[in-house]
Amino acid sequence: MLLTTEFERVSYPLADDFTISRGTQTAAENVVVRITDDGGMTGVGAAAPSAHYGETADTVEAVLPELLDVVESVGDPHGIAKIERGMRERVGRNPAARAGVEIALHDLASKRLGLPLYRQWGLDADEAPPTSFTIGLDDTETMREKTEEAVEAGFPVLKVKLGTDRDEEIVEAVRDAAPEATIRVDANEAWTPREAVAKTEMLASYDVEFVEQPVPAADPEGLRFVYERAALPLAADESCVTLADVPRVADRTDVVNLKLMKCGGLSEATRMVHAARAHGLEVMLGCMIESNAAIAAACHLAPLLDYADLDGALLLGEDDYEGVPIEDGEIRLRDLNRSGTGARRTD
Ligand SMILES: [Mg+2]
Repeated sequence: MLLTTEFERVSYPLADDFTISRGTQTAAENVVVRITDDGGMTGVGAAAPSAHYGETADTVEAVLPELLDVVESVGDPHGIAKIERGMRERVGRNPAARAGVEIALHDLASKRLGLPLYRQWGLDADEAPPTSFTIGLDDTETMREKTEEAVEAGFPVLKVKLGTDRDEEIVEAVRDAAPEATIRVDANEAWTPREAVAKTEMLASYDVEFVEQPVPAADPEGLRFVYERAALPLAADESCVTLADVPRVADRTDVVNLKLMKCGGLSEATRMVHAARAHGLEVMLGCMIESNAAIAAACHLAPLLDYADLDGALLLGEDDYEGVPIEDGEIRLRDLNRSGTGARRTD
């Protein structure tokens, strides 16, 4: 079959500057991928590269012609496993670039079958956990205001970025503004192991649910040190990037935070979910700051998860795609009345 492919770099302004312990982001550079079959049906995906994992919009644009050549030479939108293997052989790493292509293929394949992706996979929409909404680092008063806005908008779960010299002040303000919310925190590698253990004791007193990535991924023994002493469960994000990382962190975390842009797409993320289950781990699916062209796809994995952190498109100032409806933090797959991932251009 003749498949035609194209890609387009899009810079999305953010609703507000987004700060974590490593730095501040003011815009999100995504590369949108479209694959069209011989009947004129188009699947869409997007790569949301992260410099932390060695990718930028430039590297994505540099490898996409190679990846899309694999798509065109296989010539079958349902040949996803073959294309996925071919892409991996051709470019190796570059997981966000591969994810952008792989998402577009899944979208096209399930559109051709006339089913939303989660229905094609046979998943139960009612099993999807609510998504958290992220409160980025800012001065404490602004973080309190953002928390109030998130509560007002109906989000039952908040993920609070930490890793500052005023972490307790922040958590106290957030808890005060959101007494009923489930609160998770993410240090993005900012703490030393000993510091992290003390932080978990402080955070437990504010009824925090779990602590994500307390220490650097480069210090796996540090993560184990924290895990053995922590007052709260831990989640591994930067420490768990690919399938091979799941067994490596299994004895030093409670939760793994998977992302399509770290692992290369929906198929690999699904394999990671099952590997995590086999190791007795809980599973969260997170995201970068991404257009609905990518987030919509991630939402279809939600029924397999314990925790969802799929607010990436909610942090954009504007998005040229709409995706799976999210209301009061609930990922409403059942309300999706479109086939494929549900990503649809808004203009
Ligand atoms: Mg994280």
